[in-house]
Amino acid sequence: MNAPNKSGWKPEMDAALPDAAAPTHTGNRALMLEEKLIFEIGSSDTTGVDLPVAKGGTNRLGGMERSAPIGLPGLSEPEAVRHYTRLSRQNYAIDLGLFPLGSCTMKHNPRLNEKVARMPGFADVHPLQPQETVRGALGVINELAQWLIDLTGMHGVAMSPKAGAHGELCGILCIRAALDARGDPREVILVPESAHGTNPATAAFAGYRVENIPATAEGRVDLAALKARLGPDVAGVMITNPNTCGLFERDMKAISDAVHAAGGYVYCDGANFNAIVGRVRPGDLGVDAMHINLHKTFSTPHGGGGPGSGPVVLSEALSPFGPLPFTARTEDGVVHLVEEEGAEEFGHTQGFGRMTAFHGQMGMFTRALAYILSHGADGLRQVAEDAVLNANYVLRSCEDLLHAPYAASGPCMHEALFGDEGFADGFTTLDLAKALIDEGYHPMTMYFPLVVHGAMLVEPTETESKAALDQFIGALRSVAERARAGDPALKQAPIHAPRRRLDETLAARKPVLAWSEGE
Ligand SMILES: *Cc1c(COP(=O)(O)O)cnc(C)c1O
Repeated sequence: MNAPNKSGWKPEMDAALPDAAAPTHTGNRALMLEEKLIFEIGSSDTTGVDLPVAKGGTNRLGGMERSAPIGLPGLSEPEAVRHYTRLSRQNYAIDLGLFPLGSCTMKHNPRLNEKVARMPGFADVHPLQPQETVRGALGVINELAQWLIDLTGMHGVAMSPKAGAHGELCGILCIRAALDARGDPREVILVPESAHGTNPATAAFAGYRVENIPATAEGRVDLAALKARLGPDVAGVMITNPNTCGLFERDMKAISDAVHAAGGYVYCDGANFNAIVGRVRPGDLGVDAMHINLHKTFSTPHGGGGPGSGPVVLSEALSPFGPLPFTARTEDGVVHLVEEEGAEEFGHTQGFGRMTAFHGQMGMFTRALAYILSHGADGLRQVAEDAVLNANYVLRSCEDLLHAPYAASGPCMHEALFGDEGFADGFTTLDLAKALIDEGYHPMTMYFPLVVHGAMLVEPTETESKAALDQFIGALRSVAERARAGDPALKQAPIHAPRRRLDETLAARKPVLAWSEGE
């Protein structure tokens, strides 16, 4: 290994180099470029465009015109391009490496989806175009809707919600409309301890009182406690399945039966549908409403990569109360977008209203349908199987070093859950997560779910190869060993990132959102 290569380099030459951590003149470290704020590098007398001063014309601003210069920083075009390109390189992205965020299902976004979504017939349509001119696009929405209905075994679907949490609100508003329609308003929504934070937030936002249902020692909903709390004031339950401990709620059918018998409805948080798609149909488990995050299970980009989309599938009991608009295919094969004017004709008179101005995220619909059609029914089933296999591989490869509180509850579903038990005194999940940044990984979901102390929730998804998982597991084991041994250097991490440890609490509590000179 020590043989010089063709360039004449020998390992001992590196030892003679200055310390890699030594400061450079520019502050840049090789290809990692330091970049200041645009306010620090731009100036208000510079501009990338050179326009002649407008002559003549009448001022119609009625005294509202600006009296002082606007003071925005300006850059020349090449400077502006470099500024934003440099900033973009400080980002971590799914196209750079594994993104182990539990519950988020950060999977590869296939390029085929992008190609389909960019076809002019989909990309260039306008939501106010006459329906006759966009029948193909409406057909895509309708076909995706049908796939979602088939995959979940449900009766109807509202396509317009624009994220998972937005879908939760849609589902809860359907439940409220159904209860109102039978003159039985109820006040309480039951939410298990292991629920995603958006569940109680949604129920509270919709005006319900939220009550917690405890989890059993094995990390699942306590069925007996839930049954004991049911009554005429309970509008429904919100249950995440598979849950945020990475476990399948085996009692789901019994839960649904009990809730229905007490006159309530069952909302299932379907964000973790990736673990069961093609294997379990929530409709068979008695679910009344469930959102599906197209940006999770169906591979459309997350967050900065694109808008989310959270269609909600509905049971026969809730479908009449779903929002407008929706698509429907008539016997002549034509797909219609049903809005307020046409709703009666399609027998939809009890809908609770609208979730959005238009019909939802068209670009996400085309991407999700491309993903579904390129996998086919058998491929989607394999998605779930491989996602579960990968998560169990991580769980079993690390459980000797990282406390795995529910490892004895059987195989996990899509994500592996660990806790901080066994770390040296004073060493925390945060230390481990910061050290993972030095190893080139975005940290996993931390301190969630709340039922596990110092929780670390790792969801590799099916799109990682065994080689990629082995490298990640190696890094995770290494930082776990350092946390157990109490390696003081771990407290310094990250040392290789553009910025070291930030005061995240201060940043969250007192965000500095406006730049002012000298700050
Ligand atoms: C992601 C997620 C949500 C929220 O979905 P958004 O699309 O981010 O609004 C809700 N519940 C669970 C379990 C999730 O993982």
